[in-house]
Amino acid sequence: MALLITDECINCDVCEPECPNGAIYMGEEIYEIDPAKCTECVGHFSEPQCQQLCPVSCIPFDPAWRETTGQLQAKYERLQAELKAGSPEIQNAGQNIG
Ligand code: SF4
Ligand code: SF4
Repeated sequence: MALLITDECINCDVCEPECPNGAIYMGEEIYEIDPAKCTECVGHFSEPQCQQLCPVSCIPFDPAWRETTGQLQAKYERLQAELKAGSPEIQNAGQNIG
C-alpha cells in the first residue's frame, strides 16, 4: 500500500528529502506521493519515514493502493535496478546513438 498526503499538508518540506525512493514531490498546491515509487519504505526502513516525521500527521495509507509486503519488496528491487541502470531516457538515448 502506498501512502497518501492529504490536504491537511502545511508544505513544511520535512518529508520530501527523507523519502529513500524519491517518491514525494511538490504538486500543484501541496506535496504528493507517487504510488509507483512508494514502497512504504520497505527495503530501506522498518517504518514509513514520511509518516513518522510529518508534524501534522497527514500521511495515511492509501486504500486505493493495496500491496503485499512481497509486492512492495518487488517494487523496491525494481526501483533499485532502475537506479543502477540509469533512467529509461538515458538508456534510450544510448540505444539511439548505438
Ligand atoms: S512511506 Fe517511505 S517510500 Fe513511501 S513516500 Fe513515505 S518515505 Fe517515501
Ligand atoms: S511532512 Fe507532512 S506537512 Fe510537511 S510537507 Fe510532508 S506531508 Fe506536508
